[in-house]
Amino acid sequence: MKKAVLILALGLAFLQAFSANEQTEIKQQKAAVDTLKKDGIDPICKMKVKAGNTKTIVFEKVTYGFCSESCKKTFTANPKKYIK
Ligand SMILES: [Zn+2]
Repeated sequence: MKKAVLILALGLAFLQAFSANEQTEIKQQKAAVDTLKKDGIDPICKMKVKAGNTKTIVFEKVTYGFCSESCKKTFTANPKKYIK
């Protein structure tokens, strides 16, 4: 009976370690979204957006910068409509 408890405890520890790893990965992905690397154009309103802009979205490995949160939201709702 003791053996079964030990195995259960090990299983739980493994699950906890696994989910902690997953959370770290999600954080790293978010960090990559943060800043625009070079000047670009807002795909919604065609305004120029400068490097260092933080209103960005990474879509299919391309970083898009936006002039405002509302342009960003419009893009998020239907990204494929705005990129060629
Ligand atoms: Zn805009």
